[in-house]
Parts: sequence; C-alpha cells; structure tokens
Amino acid sequence: MSTRRKWLLALLSAMLTVSLTGTATALAEAPQSSANSQSEASIQASLSDMPASLRPSIEWVYKNRMLKENSVGRKNLIFDQIFAGKGTINYVVRWQSAKNLTLQQRQDIERMLGRQLNNWTKHLKGYDGWPYGDIPVKVVGWAVANPAQILNKQLNEIVYTQTIVDELSKTDPRIPAALPVAPSALSRFDHFTDPNYAYPGGLDKRFDMYLWGTTNFGGGAGGDWGQRMSDDYILSTVNNNEIQITEHEIGHGFGMPDFYGENDRPPGGFPVPTIMWAGNSSKITDWDVWLLRYTWSQLKQDSQRFRM
Ligand SMILES: [Zn+2]
Repeated sequence: MSTRRKWLLALLSAMLTVSLTGTATALAEAPQSSANSQSEASIQASLSDMPASLRPSIEWVYKNRMLKENSVGRKNLIFDQIFAGKGTINYVVRWQSAKNLTLQQRQDIERMLGRQLNNWTKHLKGYDGWPYGDIPVKVVGWAVANPAQILNKQLNEIVYTQTIVDELSKTDPRIPAALPVAPSALSRFDHFTDPNYAYPGGLDKRFDMYLWGTTNFGGGAGGDWGQRMSDDYILSTVNNNEIQITEHEIGHGFGMPDFYGENDRPPGGFPVPTIMWAGNSSKITDWDVWLLRYTWSQLKQDSQRFRM
C-alpha cells in the first residue's frame, strides 16, 4: 500500500511539475494562443502574473470605462451575488415563449447555466484571495405564462405564472406581450441594498438572476439582473460548452463593458480577441480572464463589500 502511495505521489508531482512548467513557458512565449489552458492550470496566481502584453489594455478599460461608467459600483455584481449566496448562484428561468419545456430541457438548462457561469469563475479559483472553487448553480423557479408548458413537472420544481405586460411588445408586435415574473420578495436584485433583508423561506429560496428567454428577441442583453436572449437560442445551444451570447452577457454581470464604438476600445487596440467585443471572439479568452481577475483584485480591496 505504501509503495503504491509513493508511486501515486511521484506521478502526481511529476504531472504538477510538467503542467506548471508548461504554464510558465506558454505564458512567456505565447500568451495569445495559450489563453484558457494556462489560466485553468494556474495555482495561487496573483495580479503580478498578468502577462505584460495584456496589462495596458486591461488597465485602460478598467479605469476609462468601468470606473468612469461606474459599472462596478453597484454591489450586486456576480462577485457580490456569489458572496451573498455563500458560494452559490440561484436562477429563475423567465420563459417569455409559448414553447413547452420538457424535463430534459429543464435539466439541460440548469446544467448549461452552471457551465457558463463556471467558465468564468473557474479562472478565479486560487487567484488573489478568491475563496471559492466550483460554484453550484441552481434553477429555483420557472416563470411561464401557462403552467402546462412545464411538461412532467416534478414535485420539487417551482412554477410561477404571474405575468406583466412587456413594453417592448408595444413597439415590436413579434415579442410576446405576456412577461412572466417571479416574486419580488425572493429577488436579490430587488433587495441587495438592504443588508438586513431576510428572504421568505431562507437564503436558498432567493434567486440572484433571471435567465430570460424571449421569442423573437434579437441578440442578447445582460446585467446584474441576468441574461436575456431568444428562446430558440437558449434551446439550440443548451448542450454546448461555451455559448457566445450567454457568456458575453454573463460578462456584463461582472461589470465588463461592450466595445461597440472606436472610442470605447483601448487606444492601442486589444492584444488578443475578447468575447466582450461582440463578434470578436466566440469564447472567453485570456484577455477576458485577466480583466475578470483584475476587476476582482480591485474590488476586493473594499473589505466591507467582501467579508472573508
Ligand atoms: Zn454586451
């Protein structure tokens, strides 16, 4: 037994050495192409590990966009949500669509949300005091216009059927007028400014964000309230690993901006592509990872905001 153990330990340490060496080489030689693999392998990284080629553009964006536009000032970024949820994120799926959802689709949607969120947060693991590992993501409610749309409803599934009128439907009649809503009492978005607020039934019952699927919705929208795109986009990408629009919109939830106009972008341009410049990258890149990490390193300095 002890011999086997030694073998295992030797093997493990050899693997670690190889991967760490590989990381260092990749960082020095080719930060552009090694993007995601090196970030995942990094252990106990800090801001000083940021590749020099990325630093000027990331610092420019943080200072001239995120601070100026105050996209990081609201204490309901996904960083804040994860802290408030003790390392978890809860969603309600807001289904503004006449399409039914099968049990399989609902299970796939929950797993998809976990994958997309962790495609971002896995790059914070072991980075500069970030205290969490994998982030469990749960769907704690389904908001639909008609409860019959939730096929084979399970006993532990919660379905909300209240609706309001979507103003967007008045200017675009292709958008369904009935917009399902979940109870405000369970919404972190509606209560995060009140530190003493208690969710009915406890913290586990709250929801942090909506995944909002709207028939005929073009493109996407995102913020600390969640992510919105078309119902068809959600269903057709649900089993993909990286989902371009969904990941981009989640990026807004961390306070990251868009880069549509030339003046929105760093003066020297981006050294590598970024998923936050719509159409520039279909995946989270090394640049995105380091903007996320840089943002965390800045925000964590407010120890009142992030109590560890
Ligand atoms: Zn955007």
